[in-house]
Amino acid sequence: MSVVAIVGANWGDEGKGKITDYLAKDAQFVVRFQGGNNAGHTIINQFGKFALHLLPSGVFYPNVTNVIGPGVAVNIRALLQELDNLKRNKVPEPHLRISHRAQVLLPIHALMDQAEEELLGQNQFGSTRSGIAPFYSDKALKVGIQIADVFAPNRLRERVTRLIETKEVLLKHRYGISDVMSVDEIMELLRGDVQGIASYVCDTSQLLHDALKNRKNILLEGQLGALRDPDQGIFPFVTSSSPLAGFASVGAGIPPHAITRIVAVTKAYSTCVGAGPFVTELMGTQGEWLRKHGADIGEYGATTGRPRRVGWFDAVATRYGCRIQGATEVALTNLDVLSSLQDIPVATGYKIHGKVLDTFPTTADLFEAEPIFEIMPGWQSDISQISGYDKLPSAAKNYIERLEELVETPISWISYGPRRDQIMKK
Ligand code: GDP
Repeated sequence: MSVVAIVGANWGDEGKGKITDYLAKDAQFVVRFQGGNNAGHTIINQFGKFALHLLPSGVFYPNVTNVIGPGVAVNIRALLQELDNLKRNKVPEPHLRISHRAQVLLPIHALMDQAEEELLGQNQFGSTRSGIAPFYSDKALKVGIQIADVFAPNRLRERVTRLIETKEVLLKHRYGISDVMSVDEIMELLRGDVQGIASYVCDTSQLLHDALKNRKNILLEGQLGALRDPDQGIFPFVTSSSPLAGFASVGAGIPPHAITRIVAVTKAYSTCVGAGPFVTELMGTQGEWLRKHGADIGEYGATTGRPRRVGWFDAVATRYGCRIQGATEVALTNLDVLSSLQDIPVATGYKIHGKVLDTFPTTADLFEAEPIFEIMPGWQSDISQISGYDKLPSAAKNYIERLEELVETPISWISYGPRRDQIMKK
């Protein structure tokens, strides 16, 4: 039996989907525990190329039960579209279970997210505008709607009325929006949509409890990365739920002591979508080059298509990311992207107002930080067809081993191409 959390060490987009898809071959459960359809995991396999937003990355395996835990923001329509997309691409119908305690993300959440970002103008946080911050605010305000509520008509009316009451003033006076859905319209929409997922809804905490008792292999799949955590990350340029492995036990419903391994995923260089401090960011032609050659089609967001900001590997941020994740090991992805470079800079420290720092500071200081680079020699040869760690050029092995030393966590897997088979154990 194993319970493995697969989480991001950085700003998101580290390649968690690929690693989860790879490890899911030996799993019986893959569980999403936070976030919603605001980010995407890219998976390339025998069925084609997919960007999964809400569906767990085990949906391509008949042996896997995919679980959407109570910590997830469920946009029912988006979920149904994803399922439909799998069907259209001839993927066999996945085994899916959705927690009856998960809450529903409503059109009003997306509306408020968009209105807030527009209002913020130049100061916006780079939200994907899919409603995540208003959704989690409503959960904290205790006015959110659990999926189980949608099946209880009287309770649903009460809950929706309460939710709308809290929104009216804000919508009208902050955003100037008066034309919003009525209580009846929202109830009708929810009752219609929920039919599409009714057969998947159950008590997933009980399901996972039984799975643990029966010594099954469970993967817990994080969205975004450590630095987007509202408490430990680059606040306020964070997401609204915790992407940390520690939260997996809450958002999935698994005892903390049951988690046996925590795999922090990181790219061999850095990328970041949205606003906020990004110390090793590359501008100009070097940045353009890395953006164009990164990932599988260049560095563009899986959900939004937004160009990702790119930079050299940031060991200060990644060491911190691994620490707050509690990583027992690292999966290093996108090593192939660096193959043609003669020299590869790696940030080993920050300089802030003349002082050298090797710990990760707060957002206020991050804006002032300059990277201190160490230059590693590149390997300048194609590694995308290589079959084992020993076959890697020695400069590539030196690069990997130096990163391992800097992040103070053993690297277990190295991904050297976007395909499922382009991965090796170290
Ligand atoms: P996630 O959200 O952490 O799953 O990451 P994304 O899917 O948003 O972004 C990772 C990108 O890197 C995707 O385009 C993947 O196809 C791609 N990718 C993953 N591993 C590798 C790799 O080892 N090499 C290359 N070239 N691309 C990779």
